[in-house]
Amino acid sequence: MTTSPTTAMLARAEWPDPTLDARAVAWWPAGTFDELVARGLLAEVGPAGAAACDACAGDHVEPVRWVREPQLPPRACISCPEFGVVWLDPADLRRWVVRLRTLARLVTGALRASGEVVERVPGRVWKLGTVRASGRSWTGFLAVGLTRPDAAAVIESVPELRSPNALVFVPSAVPASSLWAPDPKPTVLALCDLLAPGTDPFALDRDTFTAALPPGERSKSKGPARTFVAPPGTTWDRVELLVGEHDVRVRAGATVERFGFAEAGFEDGRKRDVPDDVWAVLRVLARLGGALGTGDQITTKGNDLKQKVSTLRERLRALVGLDGDPFHRTPRGRPYRARFAIRSAGAATFPAPPGATWDDVTVTEVEPGILAIAVAVEARGAEYVRGEEDGDPGRWEGTTGARDHQIHYTLADLGLTGPGDTVEPAGEALLELVRGRGRLPRPAGDESLSALGDALARFFRFDGPPLTFDRKRHQWTARFEAASLVPPFDR
Ligand SMILES: [Zn+2]
Repeated sequence: MTTSPTTAMLARAEWPDPTLDARAVAWWPAGTFDELVARGLLAEVGPAGAAACDACAGDHVEPVRWVREPQLPPRACISCPEFGVVWLDPADLRRWVVRLRTLARLVTGALRASGEVVERVPGRVWKLGTVRASGRSWTGFLAVGLTRPDAAAVIESVPELRSPNALVFVPSAVPASSLWAPDPKPTVLALCDLLAPGTDPFALDRDTFTAALPPGERSKSKGPARTFVAPPGTTWDRVELLVGEHDVRVRAGATVERFGFAEAGFEDGRKRDVPDDVWAVLRVLARLGGALGTGDQITTKGNDLKQKVSTLRERLRALVGLDGDPFHRTPRGRPYRARFAIRSAGAATFPAPPGATWDDVTVTEVEPGILAIAVAVEARGAEYVRGEEDGDPGRWEGTTGARDHQIHYTLADLGLTGPGDTVEPAGEALLELVRGRGRLPRPAGDESLSALGDALARFFRFDGPPLTFDRKRHQWTARFEAASLVPPFDR
């Protein structure tokens, strides 16, 4: 599992001294770093006062001394018992603090909470106001360092944190439930589990958030208004769902039917025309391509998610009109995996197998402007079988040997063409990038490269950006394998 700059930043926010040094941010793409600074989540603080010596084989940390001479920029050094004065690059001593109050404010904004952010325990707990979600009113909090030894004392000083209505956001470390004993624990969610996929480095995903909340009091489901009529002999692995914001298209063989969320039996029991929290689970499942509870998306298969998946299972049986379990058997600690194919409606996305990262991707230009995209899957893996018809999402099927499976895409499939099939600058950049074997000498602020990064991030939905800027070589580098089989005179 790759770590994105934002998850690294959130992990650091839990520390007593939530600062990141130059080495910690060196691998971050410039765009992401600048965006986090622009949002006020990171602010530069004074340079490090001590540095490790890398001149000798010893492992010692020395205080940094600054040498200021007229007409020269300040220089920094440490002293080494073996080599004497060791000069340092002042840029390596820069540090940035994670601004927790800004984090609290951004969470409040993302959840459209009403009320002001109030710091309740300095540097540790902020009250975020009232959050309406899943048919309930919650009192939101941001708390950091709840896995530190003094966490019990911190909680003791804010009795509201123990209320069953408390919704406690932590940056990345969820404390053991024993922390709240003997009271029942409030709802605790880690922000790093709720980040929206895509290129915005700090956006919370509303569906993931709703799916992660405990199930609300549910009035008896009325069931679907009508049922899909599957062709005789249909099994779950022949069913495909295409999930939109407010509707779902069910397909089995040549039979296709569209249902609104209310018709499909997902209307909130208390409010008309509002989908309920199980709909959010279905939406997240679609976005993740049929696996739920993996790594950083809804990390824990807690009882809350279990209960919702069990409701989802019943509703899908009722909607599609099939018996049997729509999910594979899930061993403890493993993600839920749908037997049916499922994806989000809207822009095309690559159906990557769960756990795949940029490192597993190969993009090869096989004919001018036609790209074969392959994701290497582990030996006991899965093979993607592309659907035969237009709009058919295809599915992953289990395989025994290791095998790459390629799917061909045009630049239009990747969203890199404009009106009249004209190639966008980002599409040109992609072709140049694959023809340059994954390297493209362009300036750091190149707009078509950032548009390309956005398009690829949307298409693959992996963590972290697909392209990084190499400051030394002044070129962009792809995190995936790229090549072109098209001879230069045919391009
Ligand atoms: Zn030394």
